[in-house]
Amino acid sequence: MSELAQRYNQIVEQVSAAASASGKSASDITLVVVTKNHPPQLVFDLIALGARDFGENRDQEAAPKAKEVLASSPEKMRWHFIGQLQTNKVRSVLDYADLIHSLDRESLLVELQKRTVGRAKPLGVFIQVNLTEDPARGGVRVDDLDAFATKVLESEGLRLEGLMGVGGLAKDPEIEFDRLAKLSTKLQNIAPEANSLSMGMSADFEVAIGYGATHLRIGTAITGKRP
Ligand SMILES: *Cc1c(COP(=O)(O)O)cnc(C)c1O
Repeated sequence: MSELAQRYNQIVEQVSAAASASGKSASDITLVVVTKNHPPQLVFDLIALGARDFGENRDQEAAPKAKEVLASSPEKMRWHFIGQLQTNKVRSVLDYADLIHSLDRESLLVELQKRTVGRAKPLGVFIQVNLTEDPARGGVRVDDLDAFATKVLESEGLRLEGLMGVGGLAKDPEIEFDRLAKLSTKLQNIAPEANSLSMGMSADFEVAIGYGATHLRIGTAITGKRP
């Protein structure tokens, strides 16, 4: 078995075990394999191993890769855009991405609304939350979350999936996961279907599952070190 296969299978097993430990099934959790800095061949290899969801954080790199894979993969698969998205890249990203995890500000929302009006299938979006006091960190401030979510819910071309957090700010990831989980519960008061939670990366995905993560964004633990 290749090293990639060993790592992938091991993570799938760990996800499954952590899900069971939280009274969930592995099918409740979407494993998004983050393939940034890796060539398209890695994605093809992962598809052959059973992976179906892939994440990228830069349009410039993702657009050609995603299109190449979509054009020749016989399997149904989905691209998740997970990085900060410039408004002038939205059009490009919409050509290949099924979901955007990083809806982090008003100007991006306005551009997404403009570009998704009249879509047959609404674009799935996660609101990225800024859990810090530092506005330079990406994300919607906690105090603005309800008002921002209301605007997303009023957008006909968008479907609000839930919340997204980029961890690693606090020494203890549990503090952030717990806060996000509570914000998610609160969001569901106004948007019952927006019950997804994108959090957890290579270093902390098992902990994230314990706090209710539904979408894991895992790079290096599966792909190995990024070149
Ligand atoms: C790169 C990246 C990840 C994956 O990080 P790993 O530590 O390699 O698992 C997850 N989320 C975002 C937003 C990223 O840019």
